[in-house]
Amino acid sequence: MVIIGAGECGGRAALALRDLGFDGPVTLVGDEPHLPYERPPLSKEAMISEAPLIIKAIVSDELLAERSIQHIRSIRAVAIDRAAHAVRLSDGSSLAYDKLLLATGSVPRKLPMPGLGGRCVYLRTFNDALAIRAHLSAGNRVAIIGGGFIGLELAAAARKLGAAVTVIEAQPRILMRGVPAEIAEIIHRAHEAEGVSIRAGQGIAAIADDGAEVRVTLADGQQVAADLAVIGIGAVPVTALAAEAGLTIDNGIAVDGTLRTEDPDILAAGDCCSFPLAIYGGRRVRLEAWRNAQEQGALAAKNMLGTNEPHAAVPWFWSDQYGLTLQIAGLSDEGRTIVRRDLDDGAFILFHLAADGRLVAASGIGPGNAVARDIRLAEMLIAKRATPAPEALGSQAVKLKSLLAA
Ligand SMILES: Cc1cc2nc3c(=O)[nH]c(=O)nc-3n(C[C@H](O)[C@H](O)[C@H](O)COP(=O)(O)OP(=O)(O)OC[C@H]3O[C@@H](n4cnc5c(N)ncnc54)[C@H](O)[C@@H]3O)c2cc1C
Repeated sequence: MVIIGAGECGGRAALALRDLGFDGPVTLVGDEPHLPYERPPLSKEAMISEAPLIIKAIVSDELLAERSIQHIRSIRAVAIDRAAHAVRLSDGSSLAYDKLLLATGSVPRKLPMPGLGGRCVYLRTFNDALAIRAHLSAGNRVAIIGGGFIGLELAAAARKLGAAVTVIEAQPRILMRGVPAEIAEIIHRAHEAEGVSIRAGQGIAAIADDGAEVRVTLADGQQVAADLAVIGIGAVPVTALAAEAGLTIDNGIAVDGTLRTEDPDILAAGDCCSFPLAIYGGRRVRLEAWRNAQEQGALAAKNMLGTNEPHAAVPWFWSDQYGLTLQIAGLSDEGRTIVRRDLDDGAFILFHLAADGRLVAASGIGPGNAVARDIRLAEMLIAKRATPAPEALGSQAVKLKSLLAA
């Protein structure tokens, strides 16, 4: 069993193979120099902590050794020879496989503009985080290009450390993709209350990075000067290896419901793949989410061992900014009608109902864990393809658990 990509998904898949009783060779190939590690803390608590940034590893060297998982680090897989069932590595060596899992993840979308220099950076890896962390201090100015989750989480961290922060978003509002306006508004206000300047609806006309300072010129001519510009304009799946091996790419490495590509011996999972989501009528999606990477890693391991289990999980995502946690279950852009349920402490959940009355998503926001329980119940309702009455969803007097039983 060979796994390319030693991230969240690849690391979980390797462990799952052993949990499932597989006792043949398992090799995990990663081009980063680290153990498989968690990325979510890199824009959250790890950035704020006074202590030096440390990696939150998914698995230790000891556990890898104990479970006989070979982890090849700082080496890239450069080609797949499907006929020979072998992967060529950047050090010139080759690995034979019976089953191959591509868990190559995604990388930041590059800003296609001239003028970017060393003070214009992206955040994906631990090493990126180390470089950014060095600039987040009182008195420093940080421009964040892109009002998506990673940019906004980083903005919150940078404010906590006393940096002056400007967020530049080309769309009319932050979090346009997949987050209802009502929730984005709460997050927008939280950032402004903390002193972040948000320039939404502003394209970028030019960037000049002279090595000492970055100057971002907005479409309306205004200029934002910064010591560091962090670009967070989305991610693109890492598909070159699969494409060069002749596998189909369709917004990611295209797999079926069991995470197999058209080559039955090659699977793909996590951020790098697109797959049909059964509970949404087989609609092909690609998720960039931590829990999905875990779930698909575990499922891919099962299916590498010959089962045919389809991916059936409801998408789930969270983000932490200041004291607020946002959680989304399901695919909210499918919603037609939105019903609001207020919870304690100003928290609330928006339920998204399709035209046929089916609950397709729930988005919630509130302090700490305020929305966690109800989002979990909503997730179960979505999985059951429930069509709960909108009035019941909206009423705090009706327990979501009772709707589940119904
Ligand atoms: C800063 C940050 C914050 C995040 N916060 C959240 C959050 O709050 N909530 C949430 O749900 N999700 C969050 N995510 C997303 C989540 O971390 C990802 O969805 C998850 O890491 C995907 O796991 P993966 O294994 O598919 O890909 P990755 O974690 O990207 O791992 C892929 C690995 O494969 C390696 N690789 C690629 N090609 C090759 C090759 N040819 N040879 C060898 N190695 C290769 C890559 O270098 C990488 O190490 C966040 C992501 C980032 C970057």
